[in-house]
Amino acid sequence: DVRVRFCPSPTGNPHVGLVRTALFNWAFARHHGGTLVFRIEDTDAARDSEESYELLLDSMRWLGLTWDEGPEVGGPHAPYRQSQRMDVYADVARKLMEAGHAYRCYCTAEELEERREAARAAGKPSGYDGKCRTLTDEQKAAYEAEGRASIVRFRMPDETITFTDLVRGELTFTPENVTDYGIVRANGAPLYTLVNPVDDALMEITHVLRGEDLLSSTPRQIALYRALAEIGVGNGSTPRFGHLPYVMGEGNKKLSKRDPQSSLNLYRERGFLPEGLLNYLALLGWSIAEDRDIFSLEEMVAAFEIGDVNANPARFDLKKCEAINAVHIRDLDTKEFIARCEPWLTAPHAPWTPESFDRAAFEALAPLAQTRLTVLSDITANVDFLFLDEPVEDEAAWNKAMKPGADALLRTARAKLAEAEWNAEALKAAVLAAGEEHGLKLGKAQAPVRVAVTGRTVGLPLFESLEVLGRERTLARVDAALA
Ligand code: GLU
Repeated sequence: DVRVRFCPSPTGNPHVGLVRTALFNWAFARHHGGTLVFRIEDTDAARDSEESYELLLDSMRWLGLTWDEGPEVGGPHAPYRQSQRMDVYADVARKLMEAGHAYRCYCTAEELEERREAARAAGKPSGYDGKCRTLTDEQKAAYEAEGRASIVRFRMPDETITFTDLVRGELTFTPENVTDYGIVRANGAPLYTLVNPVDDALMEITHVLRGEDLLSSTPRQIALYRALAEIGVGNGSTPRFGHLPYVMGEGNKKLSKRDPQSSLNLYRERGFLPEGLLNYLALLGWSIAEDRDIFSLEEMVAAFEIGDVNANPARFDLKKCEAINAVHIRDLDTKEFIARCEPWLTAPHAPWTPESFDRAAFEALAPLAQTRLTVLSDITANVDFLFLDEPVEDEAAWNKAMKPGADALLRTARAKLAEAEWNAEALKAAVLAAGEEHGLKLGKAQAPVRVAVTGRTVGLPLFESLEVLGRERTLARVDAALA
């Protein structure tokens, strides 16, 4: 039975790297008919927030990445928030110490730093040197009497650790490079290094798929799983690991949380479709087939094999992300497209009042807009001329379209439009004829008409737009432009 987990810490806003990890775990679970555990790693009170926790849940829901165990849905290993499992970790830490797998370390930060420096200067590995590994009871008592604080440190076995990464193949870590590490702070707070593997063991996680940045903690965690098995925590097995490639941003630097491009909120606010964004994020390390970029989540689930994930860093490319989203918008059923536009048709996104919104007019132009949007928020600029009393003011657009001679053209066009039957075809013929009188091709002739009526130089096909806007309003706007 496949059991995977998505276990973010609720700090700050969710970012695309996190979403990619969630997506790969979700796809892996669904592909194997397994279980996705959603666990909240909120043991760092100083950095975690309730707001961020709510945002995580809301983001997962918006993305449509469903979980089988976790907050709100519950499950056999509840609670799924680590802040509610502190007694579990205290108990495990005590048992690890009793069994000799962990010990109290009294070294101060300054002492550690001094010895690290010395090791570095001597060209030696600079991990923990094991000073407190073998303290006698007297030495401990003396430290305690001094009033020294102590952390709990896990005792790494003196052996090479080898495992087969599901993405990277066989990896080997020698003991000099993986030294004893802290698992409980001096104030008693358990660390990620402890709580994450303890919960993976207790929740019977079979596969750990996470970012490459956590690769160095894997040999430590493997040693910890073995110790947990010995003291009877979990079912005794060690999960398999797959480390997902780094995501690189601008300038070939790792995409950082501070990068504006990395914030999930940005994509929501711009009106990406969840399926469009996820399609793109799937490509950060995986592909469904050569020369194929567009697929649905169902197709991804059917095809997803962790062994196909590429170990090389993936490059985040916003342009490609937008292009893929545009295809997903285009491919929506029109009814569905209209429904997805809904949030963008009212305040705070739309600049018009609810009273001036005309659903029939919107729906008449929606199919034309659908093929032109990159993101859903683009819809407002495409249809606002229908619902605003006056076209938007854009001086640059105006100057660009209203070249010398534009007035004369507009006057002729006005006269011909006024006489035309009010349908796109006849309106086109009217502007075409007006252009001919002034020696202008259709493209040049329609530019001033467009800017007079919509305020913009680009937009939906003009004559369909005029048809929907209606004779009266169209002519009034041309008159206003001429005034
Ligand atoms: N809470 C950890 C993080 O947010 C989880 C890492 C892991 O998957 O082990 O990075």
